[in-house]
Amino acid sequence: MKEVYTIQDLRNWSEESIRLGVIGAPVAHSLSPQIQNAALQASGIAMQYARFEIAPDELASALELMHEREFLGANLTAPHKIAALSLMEDLDSNAKRIGAINTIKFCHRAPVTGSTARNATATGFNTDGAGFARAIREAFAVDLRDLRVLVLGAGGAARAISFECARAHCERLVIANRTFAKARALANALREFFIGPKVLGPVPRLHAIPLEENALRFQIGHTDLVVNATSLGLRVGDATPVPARLIEPHLFIYDIVYAKDRETRLLRAAREVGARAADGLLMLLRQSALSFEIWFEREAPLPEMRAALGVN
Ligand code: NAP
Repeated sequence: MKEVYTIQDLRNWSEESIRLGVIGAPVAHSLSPQIQNAALQASGIAMQYARFEIAPDELASALELMHEREFLGANLTAPHKIAALSLMEDLDSNAKRIGAINTIKFCHRAPVTGSTARNATATGFNTDGAGFARAIREAFAVDLRDLRVLVLGAGGAARAISFECARAHCERLVIANRTFAKARALANALREFFIGPKVLGPVPRLHAIPLEENALRFQIGHTDLVVNATSLGLRVGDATPVPARLIEPHLFIYDIVYAKDRETRLLRAAREVGARAADGLLMLLRQSALSFEIWFEREAPLPEMRAALGVN
C-alpha cells in the first residue's frame, strides 16, 4: 500500500483490498489510516483504508471513481468538508444542520436491468460534534450541558462543535473568530437552542465576539471550557489562539488540533498555569470510531483504535 494515492491512481485502480480512505489536501499527516486499519484488523474485516491527496477541483471525480471502485466509504478532511455536501445524494440530518460532512457511506444496489440510473448512492454524515462531546466527557469527566463554553473559530470543525454544545443545552456558548461576521452568523444559526427560561445573570447565554484580547479577557471569567477550533497550533511557530496570559487555572482547555510528538503552545500555556487540558487525539479517536460504526453498523473496537493512536 502506498503512503498517499492520487486521482490518477483511482483512474487506474488495481488495489482491490482498499475500500475506504481519507480524502484531503494535504493529507500525508493524517493519522486516520493508522486508526482505521487497526479497527479493520481487530474486527476481522478484509479491507484496507488509505490516504487520498485530492485537490478541490478533483473531488467530484474522485468520489465518482470511488463509487465505481465499490468503495464502502470515506472520510473527508480540509478543504473538502463543505464542498462535498453538494455532491451527496443524501445527507444525515445532523450533517445538513452543520453544513459540513466528514464521513461518506456509499451504498451499492444491484443494477436494474435496462436502467441507466446510477446503482450507488452516497450519504454524508458528520461525526466531529459527537466525537468532540465524547472526548470532553472522557478528558474532563464533565458533560457539555453543565459547561459555559468558549469556542475559538467558526470554520467546519467549530460549526460541528458549536452545534453539539447547543444541542446539549450547554449553560452558555460564546463563539470567537478572527472573521467576526462568521462568528455572528454561526451564533445566529444556533439561536433557537438558547430560547427559554434559563438565565445566567448579566451575560448572554449565546454570544459572538471577535478573536481579540479585550473581548476574550471579559469572557474568560464567565467560561469553564475553552475549545481551540481554529487551525492555529498545526504549525510549530503558530501563536496561541488565546493569549497565554489570559489562561486561568479554573479552565478546562481542549485543543482540537493535535501535533505528532509535540505539545501545542496552547496546551503548554494551560499546563504552566495548572489548568486541565487535552489535545485533539481523543476527538480524532472518537469521531473515527463513529465513522467505523456508520460504515459497518457494528461497535468499533475502541481499545485497538486507542492503542494504534497511543491514547491511554
Ligand atoms: P477551517 O474550516 O479551515 O476553519 C479554520 C478556522 O481557523 C477559521 O475559524 C479561521 O478563521 C481560523 N484561523 C485560521 N488561521 C487563523 C489565524 N492565523 N488566526 C486566527 N484564526 C485563524 O478548518 P476546520 O476544518 O474547522 O479545522 C480546524 C482545525 O481543527 C484544523 O487544524 C484541523 O486539523 C482540526 N480538526 C481536528 C479534528 C479532530 O478530530 N481532532 C477534527 C476536525 C478538525 P477565519 O474564519 O477568520 O478564517
